Amino acid sequence: MRERNYSSYVTEPEKRIPVIHEADVCVVGGSATGVFAAVRAARLGAKVVIVEEQNSFGGVATNGLVSLWHSTWDIGMHKQIIAGLTDEVMGRLSEIDCRKGPGQSFFFNPVELKIELDAILKEENVKIYLHTMYTGLACDGDRITHIYVENKDGRGAIKAKFFIDATGDGDLCRDLGVESYLNDNIQPPSAVYLMQGTHDDDKKRYYNIPFNEDIVPRMIYDYGEEFGLEPDWGWDTFIPGLQNMHFRADTHVFNLNCAHADELTEAEIIGREKMRKVIRMMRKYGNPDETYALIAACSYIGIRDTYHYKTKYRAEHMDLLLGKRYEDNILNGTYDVDVHQAGSGIKFMRLNGECATEYTDGTRVVSNWREEMGLPTDGPMPTYYSLPFRVLVQEKFENIIAAGRMINADIESFGALRVMVNLNQIGEAAGVAAYLAVNEGKKVQELDGVKVAQTLARGGSANLA
Ligand SMILES: Cc1cc2nc3c(=O)[nH]c(=O)nc-3n(C[C@H](O)[C@H](O)[C@H](O)COP(=O)(O)OP(=O)(O)OC[C@H]3O[C@@H](n4cnc5c(N)ncnc54)[C@H](O)[C@@H]3O)c2cc1C
Repeated sequence: MRERNYSSYVTEPEKRIPVIHEADVCVVGGSATGVFAAVRAARLGAKVVIVEEQNSFGGVATNGLVSLWHSTWDIGMHKQIIAGLTDEVMGRLSEIDCRKGPGQSFFFNPVELKIELDAILKEENVKIYLHTMYTGLACDGDRITHIYVENKDGRGAIKAKFFIDATGDGDLCRDLGVESYLNDNIQPPSAVYLMQGTHDDDKKRYYNIPFNEDIVPRMIYDYGEEFGLEPDWGWDTFIPGLQNMHFRADTHVFNLNCAHADELTEAEIIGREKMRKVIRMMRKYGNPDETYALIAACSYIGIRDTYHYKTKYRAEHMDLLLGKRYEDNILNGTYDVDVHQAGSGIKFMRLNGECATEYTDGTRVVSNWREEMGLPTDGPMPTYYSLPFRVLVQEKFENIIAAGRMINADIESFGALRVMVNLNQIGEAAGVAAYLAVNEGKKVQELDGVKVAQTLARGGSANLA
């Protein structure tokens, strides 16, 4: 499905390629998902290599400037449900320049996270390749033998016993021909930027809106047309240590599939144009005493959603919302079902039954999905959701797991699972499974999911066994 047809083709001449590295586990893609996969496999004793096309690790969290991890506690704050490397890295960053915000969300400085991810990989002796892009792979039957990468040294091969595809879009799965699909409504990408301005005084001044409410979407709704901006329900948040500067994400780019080169290019350019338009609007209509300025742009557009790859289990939102439990559980989460809908706004569904749709004109429609389904709206309700290991296991190829936003999930459950505290855990599960497959000489399909869950729990992941 991801393949494109072109009108003409050339044949690449045969060429001798150097094997630049050999490892037990090769991780491709270095967001926290990929880094955590690498670290968990290495801590269990695997020899690990990680390949990242950008100049630093962290993916959307760092190079995409989205510096917010959600709560690691269940709803109601009764118990911590996520620990492992998410908790460890939060702890390490807490000593620097980051702090917990309301509801235990964790706001961090993205540059500090980059430095911390470098450090944790080096501590575990993971071989690191930055500025190195995965470009293809080779198989012996249903086993991947090696991948091809391109970097400043040219083209090279990396051999490994097991591969983790943490590229977000699932580039290895694409090349293997694993069956893929797009959800009906692809969640749009956003080009995040740092804006100086939007001081809290503005909030009081503009419509006299509450302290914690973001004024920019309201202003885009009122004045955006003059600047060529369509209504956007984007949001902002502070960055610890920075004064009068917020990250902004009111630059959704609609109806483009960023897994394809031409559409990705177009999205990047539209996203940057939108940043400039917002600043111009603020300079004209914002607080005259404020100096609005574009301080930094993400080094690449934040991609929420492209292709998903079929595995033994597809995450279903009702399984999440009803808090279904699994003996091979690899993930706990509470983040809401959160679907960004092209043109119409965001829809949130919570475990306690609350359902809210926030429209671009600022209106909010509230209902209760439990009531609509004839389920009790009071009494005990699940306070977190879970996910079984088989969501990571595709049917055919023996030595690969895809970990990240390419997860096999319906549109609503994807809206919940795609956040980083969840994908971090999926990365950890992939790393543990990769180690077990190598150590036990097993195909991924032969792994005992309960053992994966128990090994994860022994390595610090909370409440997973
Ligand atoms: C604007 C925006 C706001 C969001 N807000 C939040 C939020 O507040 N909190 C939250 O938790 N989540 C948020 N999300 C969701 C979350 O950030 C993403 O779902 C998550 O980061 C996806 O993680 P991933 O590891 O699958 O992919 P990515 O973070 O995209 O990482 C993929 C990595 O693989 C690398 N890569 C890709 N292809 C190759 C290749 N061929 N060779 C080598 N390397 C490659 C990339 O450079 C990147 O480092 C937001 C997303 C967006 C876009």
